[in-house]
Amino acid sequence: KKKIAIMTSGGDSPGMNAAVRACVRMAIHMGCDAYCVYEGYEGLVRGGDYIRRMEWYDVRGWLSEGGTLIGTARCMAFFERAGRLTAAKNMILNGIDALIICGGDGSLTGADRFRSEWPSLLEELVATGEIKKEQVGQYAHLNIVGLVGSIDNDLSGTDATIGCYSALARICYAVDLIEATASSHSRAFVIEVMGRHCGWLALMAGVATGADFIFIPEKPREDNWRDEMCNIVRHHRKLGKRKTIVIIAEGALDREGNKITPDMVKDLLADKKGLALDTRITTLGHVQRGGTAVAYDRMLGTLQGVEAVKAVLEATPGTPTCFIAITENKITRKPLMQAVMDTKEVAKAIERQDFEMAMSLRDAEFSE
Ligand code: ATP
Repeated sequence: KKKIAIMTSGGDSPGMNAAVRACVRMAIHMGCDAYCVYEGYEGLVRGGDYIRRMEWYDVRGWLSEGGTLIGTARCMAFFERAGRLTAAKNMILNGIDALIICGGDGSLTGADRFRSEWPSLLEELVATGEIKKEQVGQYAHLNIVGLVGSIDNDLSGTDATIGCYSALARICYAVDLIEATASSHSRAFVIEVMGRHCGWLALMAGVATGADFIFIPEKPREDNWRDEMCNIVRHHRKLGKRKTIVIIAEGALDREGNKITPDMVKDLLADKKGLALDTRITTLGHVQRGGTAVAYDRMLGTLQGVEAVKAVLEATPGTPTCFIAITENKITRKPLMQAVMDTKEVAKAIERQDFEMAMSLRDAEFSE
């Protein structure tokens, strides 16, 4: 009987529980034993109670739970060969030879490394007497499949990552709340959202809330960004808009690669010699990750979890590690490392559609 383990790793994202539930139940449905590794790679390195056999009913009610119920962690030990060696030993001790990992590009890169090292890890375990030579046959190949769980929507090759639409919904809700008070006092708000390297959340929130101005890492602002922003805000104010909303991603940059911070934007909007707006900063922080997943992320986690189990059962030794994507509304399998490499080159947030036009549809823009 095949034993498949599932874990969540890196930053948590809404919808991870849906993915774990689907993997556990699909594995059981396919006649396999299902396991969960608690606390990400940390649990794989620690072994023991961190690796638990799961039954169908153990994941009951998980669709409507936020976060990840099996825990997640950043694990320094897994960056080292010694840590991965212990992880391999723990997998063999539990009889596990297939692993599904739900996490960001870091976690999935770690998974690919683990899989490519697997034969040499086995050799070392045999040489040191940790496992018997006769045991190796059963574990000769490690099947690994990735699921992309991240609120940032920062992996190339998939339209959406599990969790990004929940975070986006949370941001839009928060901006709506802020708008009511901003309008009442005629204030400006600089709202910082998550996204260190990827501005998808800031961009889509800007489009979805009709923000006056946005800053994202993929589109560094020109030197004249100060004038550009102030002119737009001034124009909107002249047309009667009583609120100003500027959305800034954590990783916002200018052309020289200098960070643009919420304080810099606030000082500019509040400058007595300029717009002189009563300006506040709101950092949305972990609210963006919290709470239950929206329907889309539950659906995505479930459909991709089902596909991940199929992929892990069909994986063959020669094929590269795959991850489960959604492309043009279809659940697909794609080579993992290609997507990781593309991610470093493609500015995903702005490769999509006509972002300039969408951002210009702010109410005041066309009223002249
Ligand atoms: P997020 O998008 O939330 O940052 P992530 O999966 O990219 O999620 P990381 O902190 O990059 O998060 O990675 C999570 C864990 O994966 C690390 O703590 C480490 O244990 C493992 N990992 C990441 N990169 C590697 C690597 N190159 N080799 C081995 N393990 C890795």
